[in-house]
Amino acid sequence: MGKLGLMAIDVPEELGGSGLDYLAYSVAMEEISRGCASAGVIMSVNNSLYLGPINKFGNAKQKEQFVTPFTDGSRVGCFALSEPGNGSDAGAASTTAKDKGGQWVLNGTKSWITNGYESEATVVFATTDKAKKHKGISAFLVPKPIEGLALGKKEDKLGIRASSTCNLVFEDCQIPKENILGEPGMGFKIAMMTLDAGRIGIASQALGIAQASLDCAVDYASKRIAFGAPITKLQSIQNKLAEMALRIESARLLTWRAAALKDEGKNYTKAAAMAKLAASEAATYASHQCIQVLGGMGYVSDMPAERHYRDARITEIYEGTSEIQRLVIAGNLLKEYGL
Ligand SMILES: Cc1cc2nc3c(=O)[nH]c(=O)nc-3n(C[C@H](O)[C@H](O)[C@H](O)COP(=O)(O)OP(=O)(O)OC[C@H]3O[C@@H](n4cnc5c(N)ncnc54)[C@H](O)[C@@H]3O)c2cc1C
Repeated sequence: MGKLGLMAIDVPEELGGSGLDYLAYSVAMEEISRGCASAGVIMSVNNSLYLGPINKFGNAKQKEQFVTPFTDGSRVGCFALSEPGNGSDAGAASTTAKDKGGQWVLNGTKSWITNGYESEATVVFATTDKAKKHKGISAFLVPKPIEGLALGKKEDKLGIRASSTCNLVFEDCQIPKENILGEPGMGFKIAMMTLDAGRIGIASQALGIAQASLDCAVDYASKRIAFGAPITKLQSIQNKLAEMALRIESARLLTWRAAALKDEGKNYTKAAAMAKLAASEAATYASHQCIQVLGGMGYVSDMPAERHYRDARITEIYEGTSEIQRLVIAGNLLKEYGL
């Protein structure tokens, strides 16, 4: 992926990236995830969650250290926002960053961190002033490995099993003062803006899983003979394929629309939430129906259907659950109505 320029798609060429736009990123993410959703999330986290905020908010020195070496696939980064005590409620971060003269000292545990094992740097969110709640959160750039940062066990997951997920445990981890990203107190805003873009990546990952499910279902149905004919001749199988295609294409248009709005510099928060919600639900639906079309063969690991079913499920959870996407959509919708 690194050699193909897929690990830093929208990073400017002068920083080592491919200099392409988010629509290109969405198309590439879908195609990679169509083959392997784990590879998809590794790529998505490096592009959207790690490089994205540093590219947008970092200074020249930070980009030199934390962007360019992470553009060619030789190194990956990660994004550490969630904690054991708060996922959806990200503003309640309890990891702390204390200003100790020339250093920031980090303490706390970040959970569920994709690329946690392999990454050589992370964007970490920690509170510098708990009394200010989400306005007291700042973002920090932490190279890995580093003294004071331990990795938890690799999580044993339902799907995307080729992507590592683990806790990052900070115990008096000292980082240089200049490693703050943006201004103190800007962390929550940086996290939310990063997740808006990340949701286009996850929507595209979900589309890849959904499309692979449809491909698998059509291929199997065209070869499986029941009652003397391929099961593609059965109307109830055709109905399933039609519904799968409809949901996938609808979600793809929403995803490309969100990417295009971002590329045009317009507000895309609601569009990205709609894209992620629609695409993740399309992936869950399509992978479920794929198993049904394959019958018994859908239920065993000889065929990819059960992997798509397991991989699809995460797309409704990370980077904001489906419930949170609905809150984002409704919040923005009501604002549009002046409410
Ligand atoms: C495989 C994997 C990889 C991940 N990778 C990363 C990563 O790289 N970096 C990172 O920072 N995080 C990562 N996460 C964390 C992920 O983003 C969170 O798990 C997710 O945001 C949900 O948070 P939670 O698990 O704490 O669930 P909770 O927030 O506890 O939610 C539990 C349930 O309550 C619902 N709920 C919560 N609040 C509301 C509300 N206000 N209204 C309606 N319903 C609500 C949720 O939708 C959900 O159904 C990853 C998670 C997994 C499983």
